[in-house]
Amino acid sequence: MTTDDEVAEGDLHGRAMPVLDQDDVDALARAVQPILDSDEAVRRWCTRANVERFLRADRGNLAKATKRLTDTLKWRVAERPETRVCSACIDKDLRSHYMNFVGWDRRGRALVYSDIGLAKDKTPSTNAEHCMQVLELLEPNLRPFPNDQYVWVVDFHQFSVYDMNPSVASACLGLFARSYPERLAGMIMVGAPMLFNGLYRAVCAFADPVTVKKVRFVVGPDGKGGGKAFDPVMDEFFDAETKAWLAAEMMENRKRWKEVAKRKSWMAATFAGRGSTHGWWQTLQPSKTKPPEPPVEGEGGHDIRGCESFRACDAFKNVAQAVRSRGAHGALTSRLADLAPEGIPEPEE
Ligand SMILES: [Zn+2]
Repeated sequence: MTTDDEVAEGDLHGRAMPVLDQDDVDALARAVQPILDSDEAVRRWCTRANVERFLRADRGNLAKATKRLTDTLKWRVAERPETRVCSACIDKDLRSHYMNFVGWDRRGRALVYSDIGLAKDKTPSTNAEHCMQVLELLEPNLRPFPNDQYVWVVDFHQFSVYDMNPSVASACLGLFARSYPERLAGMIMVGAPMLFNGLYRAVCAFADPVTVKKVRFVVGPDGKGGGKAFDPVMDEFFDAETKAWLAAEMMENRKRWKEVAKRKSWMAATFAGRGSTHGWWQTLQPSKTKPPEPPVEGEGGHDIRGCESFRACDAFKNVAQAVRSRGAHGALTSRLADLAPEGIPEPEE
């Protein structure tokens, strides 16, 4: 059995308690059965694998796991997270957040990529809501244990004092711990500046120590920031195509920041089924001070939704479909169809 102590610093592969006591799994399943009987959506969601995940999250402690799973089920009944997307991204600003499910790692775990500087919204509650969107979109597409997790790559190249609010990190980490335990395989922090150290120390003080262990620091593809060399870490986790996508995304944001930062919207790209033309939606939220500017093309046709093989997979199609249906009522997204270069794709049966 692998225990937390045996999972080494920086190990993003090991899983605690690969073998569970099936009597305890049965007991946990029985304890939550009344809630499942009362609600069809949580009954569908709470599979045997999910019960096992919650028991694993509390390292086999039945009482703690019963509490966490019960709280999560009640939260799911109250919030219906499986029907929602981030309200800031569909109502207020199509560029509110830039944290998205964009591919797979070598083990078949989901790859989540975020660029801190591209996120216009720095509010704790909406950042947590966006995390919920990402988790709800990827969860139904995850592989079985032990690869039922995601690896989160965070690009820091435009990290600023406005991102120094520990409440944002605590809102997101709190949500992960309460309702999405054992999903985050680890984080790869790219190009983190010295400025980040203070926030990191603050976050480590309240974060789950197991989560803190699962963090790697890597220098950016431009050689900036603190950590290990970019290539070996990327090669350890990602195949050549996915690594090339990550490098292209990061370099585009570095080289053409002024052009792309105000135009890149994953939400707009996903609605329109087009991820390499940016800013075509700008008349929906015009700048108060500047006249509208023409859209721009991504560097070498780079598509912000992911590499070509990811865009061909079923999970990608499921995510696009779910976003279009869950976000259709948004104040901004409901008006995208008239502006999209090729319209909004019809839902498939
Ligand atoms: Zn958002």
